[in-house]
Amino acid sequence: MQILRQLRWQIVGAQMLVVVVGVLTLSLTANTLAARAVPPDLLLTVQAQVGKALLIAALAATGVGLMASLLLVRAILRPLQAIARSSQRIAAGRYDERVAVPASDELRAVATSFNQMAAVLEQVEQQRVAMIGNVAHELRTPLAGIEGYLEGLVDAIIPSTPETFRDMQHEVRRLRRLVDDLQTLSRVEAGQVSLHFTTFDLRDVARRVVAQIQPQVLDGCLETIVDGPDRPLLVRADPDRTVQILLNLVGNAVRYTPEHGCITVRLATDAQMAEVRVQDTGIGIPPEALPYIFERFYRVDPSRSRSSGGSGIGLTIARHLAWAMGGDLHAESPGRGHGSTFILRLPLAEGLEDTPSPDRHQA
Ligand code: ADP
Repeated sequence: MQILRQLRWQIVGAQMLVVVVGVLTLSLTANTLAARAVPPDLLLTVQAQVGKALLIAALAATGVGLMASLLLVRAILRPLQAIARSSQRIAAGRYDERVAVPASDELRAVATSFNQMAAVLEQVEQQRVAMIGNVAHELRTPLAGIEGYLEGLVDAIIPSTPETFRDMQHEVRRLRRLVDDLQTLSRVEAGQVSLHFTTFDLRDVARRVVAQIQPQVLDGCLETIVDGPDRPLLVRADPDRTVQILLNLVGNAVRYTPEHGCITVRLATDAQMAEVRVQDTGIGIPPEALPYIFERFYRVDPSRSRSSGGSGIGLTIARHLAWAMGGDLHAESPGRGHGSTFILRLPLAEGLEDTPSPDRHQA
């Protein structure tokens, strides 16, 4: 507000300065001309007349100038004051605050960007509140399980057998997984995840992941197919993070594919990128859910996913990791009951020849 008050006096001052300079210039010019053109006996009279006329003109110009600058000040300051007041209200936590958009082009642009910024802040605040609610909700389920077991043990309703303790351990592990996932999520979203870039063969990583998940596939098929010539598919990325992404994708494919289903991990390449397509013949994803599955805690079928132990943030983490490695992750599905395909793209090593050091580290 102090700045706006200063601006008001600066505008009025500038206007007055123009009037003073104008009057002085006119007076100087008139006196010089009079000294050359008017006979000496009339000079004093003419100069007095000119001085009088200039005084009247100066007073009129000052009056008009003052009025004009006050109108200008009002036109500029009112919207600026409104924006200043609104920003103070937003700073105090009223994120629904918006300003009226004025008619003048420049101030309209300022007010429009201010309103856009306020809308983004409001959205971020809503996401923050939703995130806290989701985290509390996710923590409550395993905590309630552990509490139930402990109460049962204290009241001797549940037998203190190794099986009971194994069930409790299962709930504790679920809690730990969720806490670990939340920590990773906060790091990847803040761009603080540490990545160790190397050049490696994507086929090896994909085969390793498939071999690791294979024991979980009791009655169905899980296979790796490599399209194109039989030679290394060299990518430039973090191999551990790539394994983490693929474990999530293949793990999900197993979880959401009923018995006798098939999961295929297909590798291919184009000019710049290598591609891993994790395709399943499982429950599929309805078109209306497809845009949201990479959002934190989004689940197409919340009860089904939660009971199977998923944290609901695996895909969010996976996509952020893919982005951090210069790649991408997206999903396709023809609809419910028709399977899904998750496509991970990573930069090919050959496309990055100008990378300065062979083992780039990013924190
Ligand atoms: P979750 O731990 O719940 O699996 P994710 O972030 O890994 O969390 O996945 C988010 C949601 O996306 C899942 O709850 C599920 O609804 C859907 N989803 C993920 N993978 C598949 C898949 N292969 N087939 C069908 N739906 C899937």
